[in-house]
Amino acid sequence: MKTRPKPWRIQRILKWTGVVAGVLLLGVYWTSAHFHGIWFNRTGTITVLIANGRISLFHSSIATNIKSESGWMIFGAPLVRYAWSFSHTVAPGRMRNIIVPLWAPFLLMSAVTAVLFYLDHCRIPPGHCRHCGYDLTGNVSGRCSECGTVV
Ligand SMILES: [Zn+2]
Repeated sequence: MKTRPKPWRIQRILKWTGVVAGVLLLGVYWTSAHFHGIWFNRTGTITVLIANGRISLFHSSIATNIKSESGWMIFGAPLVRYAWSFSHTVAPGRMRNIIVPLWAPFLLMSAVTAVLFYLDHCRIPPGHCRHCGYDLTGNVSGRCSECGTVV
């Protein structure tokens, strides 16, 4: 048994984390056109709105609306549509609004995940176990002697 650490294992975890995160993002993206979600902090200085395929962050330096608690509010949206564009506005009274369309993080995540998949695919040279990368030269059993995978 090999005892040395396997750095590609982290890469494999990241790769699948990317897939899961991508699927979750797509789910949020789709859901956001049917249900809007609002998160706010207690002092009312930060509000996060997920709606119509975009995530919108409002920040105000003045505490306006003191609430008893912070948290999520989800409500059904009457109009199903997607907005695509970025936006950044600074209003008088030190109010700031940043809007990021959810396709942007999805695209970024997909690109990184695709690269990780590609690197993982190239990692194992021919004649090595597809599962663990063990050198199968001279192996006639048809089963990897390192991890037991049928080859
Ligand atoms: Zn193996």
